[in-house]
Amino acid sequence: MSSSNQDNRLKIESRLAQIGSQEEPVTGAVSFPVYQATAFRHPKLGQSTGFDYARTKSPTRKVLEDAIAELESGDAGFACSSGMAALQTVFAMFSQGDHLIVSLDLYGGTYRLLEKIMSRFGVTSTYVDTNDFDALEANVKPNTKGIIIETPTNPLMMITDLELVCSWAKKKGIVSIVDNTLLTPFFQRPIELGADIVVHSATKYLGGHNDVLAGLIVTKGKELSEQMAFLHNSIGAVLSPQDSWLLMRGMKTLAIRMERHQYNATKMTEFLQGHPQVESVYYPALPTHPGHEIQNKQSSGNTGIFSFKLKDARYIEPILRHIKLIAFAESLGGVESLMTYPAVQTHADIPLEIRTKVGVDDKLLRYSVGIEHIDDLIADLSNAIELARQEIEG
Ligand SMILES: *Cc1c(COP(=O)(O)O)cnc(C)c1O
Repeated sequence: MSSSNQDNRLKIESRLAQIGSQEEPVTGAVSFPVYQATAFRHPKLGQSTGFDYARTKSPTRKVLEDAIAELESGDAGFACSSGMAALQTVFAMFSQGDHLIVSLDLYGGTYRLLEKIMSRFGVTSTYVDTNDFDALEANVKPNTKGIIIETPTNPLMMITDLELVCSWAKKKGIVSIVDNTLLTPFFQRPIELGADIVVHSATKYLGGHNDVLAGLIVTKGKELSEQMAFLHNSIGAVLSPQDSWLLMRGMKTLAIRMERHQYNATKMTEFLQGHPQVESVYYPALPTHPGHEIQNKQSSGNTGIFSFKLKDARYIEPILRHIKLIAFAESLGGVESLMTYPAVQTHADIPLEIRTKVGVDDKLLRYSVGIEHIDDLIADLSNAIELARQEIEG
């Protein structure tokens, strides 16, 4: 891990638990209030309380934005109405004729935004394994303006060396954008490793309860922060006061949730690795994972998401039918365990050719492990696989 230049800060667990709790001087409210207001009275001509109109800046949202900027070691934070709204706001910094390099095995919605929308505005993208240096060099063009990285990716959990790639990008004048949804600042802080911009689907771990849709952006540096403030306000896909409050409430428990997610995922992958019906398990905490060392170098822990391949695709349908505690649903990062079939759900928008190239095939399941008791989770999945086996083998 790179050392932070702000080592005199309280530990991250303390900063998370205290989000907003010392920010309301009038009543001392420990839970920061929801300021349900869009307009703010000016004391007199030429004066402002700092708040004018809620799209530009809003009190509850500001506490959240300051918190995420601080947690990610950035300079400014921006809360958006979804992770996709955050990505769209960031991508609006690019112009017609610009080219982007993008991680293979990207979140399907981001791929769709780039290919179906940004492309119509003349912004083109090339998908490469961002940990393959030769591939990066081979695909960079004179008009390459940005690199978009997910590490780990989902569902295949590919790892990119952030320090290496961000410093390479910096030398070439390319803006590096990291989607940090899967690890959160509790386990990984890309800006400390050289990234310019961090994006989150806060719908996932930061919110953590499958009940609020939100996105966050953090920028490093004055120029980028001012540019993003302009885009955030101009585009207007901002987070509401109520959802800002819900998200902060979720974030207060991020540390203990991430620790339990990591523990459960580790136990679950150990169980699956030894299972006769399982072909392979994709989880960076496993010493056999190709990105294991880089992951350990740049992150202080592992996510609660992993994927596994069954030996036989016929198992998929009955397993999804027989799981009871684990829900068959397409999100991740919440306290409840969810299982997804990427080939037909999250990754359906990615062409078969690219999906096959990265390995998202019809035998792959993704599991977002919740914070339930590990014994119950293992029993549920073990039982579903056994019932599937009985159906198939008769
Ligand atoms: C879910 C997700 C998104 C999109 O976020 P929404 O909040 O659903 O709009 C972007 N990136 C990653 C990695 C995600 O998991």
